[in-house]
Amino acid sequence: MLVEAPKTKWTDRFLLLDLLTGLRTTWRELWRKKVTVEYPENRLPTSDNFRGMFRFSYERCIACKICAMACPIEIIYIDVGEETREVDGKKKKIKVLNRYDIDVKRCMFCSLCEEACPTKPKSIWLTTGTYELASYDRNELYMNMQQLEYWEGRPEYSTLEEIAAEQGITEAKALPGKGDSK
Ligand code: SF4
Ligand code: SF4
Repeated sequence: MLVEAPKTKWTDRFLLLDLLTGLRTTWRELWRKKVTVEYPENRLPTSDNFRGMFRFSYERCIACKICAMACPIEIIYIDVGEETREVDGKKKKIKVLNRYDIDVKRCMFCSLCEEACPTKPKSIWLTTGTYELASYDRNELYMNMQQLEYWEGRPEYSTLEEIAAEQGITEAKALPGKGDSK
């Protein structure tokens, strides 16, 4: 296959012109005011598809165990029992979720459990935008369904513009993406 070479402009013959274009950008950036994000006082939001801390919904979960089967390292532990309840005047046997634990310290955040979950919206998801999962005790990272559902550790996020305004800078560029709030 023949590929036609791009036509050159007469200015391309001068190597220094490219160099000067690069230097012009460097010079412009040199004088732009810098915004310092002082973590942990300031936190920028994560991108929309960032995977962090799990959130679980007992209400949505249908106790199908598909997420546990999809997990490649088998760290989701589910126990399902049966209860007889009256539904529309008839006694019916229904599945009841007795246990839903995730050993988060072993998780590789592949999100296969979330992908496999058949409910809409998902009953387990990782796009909570929370990335501060460090702990002094490894055992704290084994979480049961109450911990997965009711955690409130999500920190406050600020946009770069808000941080810049605090620092008296008005020309900060916006960052792409923002935290997910499922
Ligand atoms: S994200 Fe974690 S729990 Fe979910 S499938 Fe992957 S390894 Fe298993
Ligand atoms: S979280 Fe989703 S996949 Fe897992 S048991 Fe509940 S409904 Fe099934």
